[in-house]
Amino acid sequence: MRVETNSVVKFEYELWVDGSKVEGTEAQCPKTILMGHAPELPKGLEAALLGLEVGQYRLVVPPEQGYGPYDPALRVEVAIADLPEAPRVGGGFSGTGPSGEPMLYRVIAIQGEQAVLDANPPLAGKTLEYRVNLQQVRRAEPEELEHGHIHGEGGIHH
Ligand code: ZN
Repeated sequence: MRVETNSVVKFEYELWVDGSKVEGTEAQCPKTILMGHAPELPKGLEAALLGLEVGQYRLVVPPEQGYGPYDPALRVEVAIADLPEAPRVGGGFSGTGPSGEPMLYRVIAIQGEQAVLDANPPLAGKTLEYRVNLQQVRRAEPEELEHGHIHGEGGIHH
C-alpha cells in the first residue's frame, strides 16, 4: 500500500542538515502521523512521503518547503544595554517582527556591546535531508479523519 492523502504512516526518521544529524526519532519509538494533520512536520516532508510504500528512503526537502527561506530582515543587532536582561548565546527574547507581529528572537552571538538576535527558524534557508524508515502504511479510519488525529498505537486514546 502506498501513502495517500488520508493514510496513517508509521516511520522512523533522522533529519540531516549540512552533513550533521539535527534530530530524529529515538530507537523503537517510531512516529505515527495522519497525513495532512502533522503540523510539527514541514509540509515538504509530507509531500515527499506521498506515493511511497514500506521501505528506506532519503528524502530531500528544499528550504521553501521546509522551514522557509532565510529572511535577513529578521536578524538584528541590538545594544546589550537595551535588552531587558543580560543575553546569553542560545537564550531568547520576545519581541516584534517587521510588521509588529510577536516573534521570538534567538541570541546567536554577542559582539562586544552588541547582541546579534535572529527570529528566523533555526533551519530557515536549509535543505533538509530526511532519512526515513517507513514501517507501516494504513488507511485512516473515518473516525480518525473526522477527529483529525489517529487513534490506537502512537495516537490518542479516548
Ligand atoms: Zn479522536
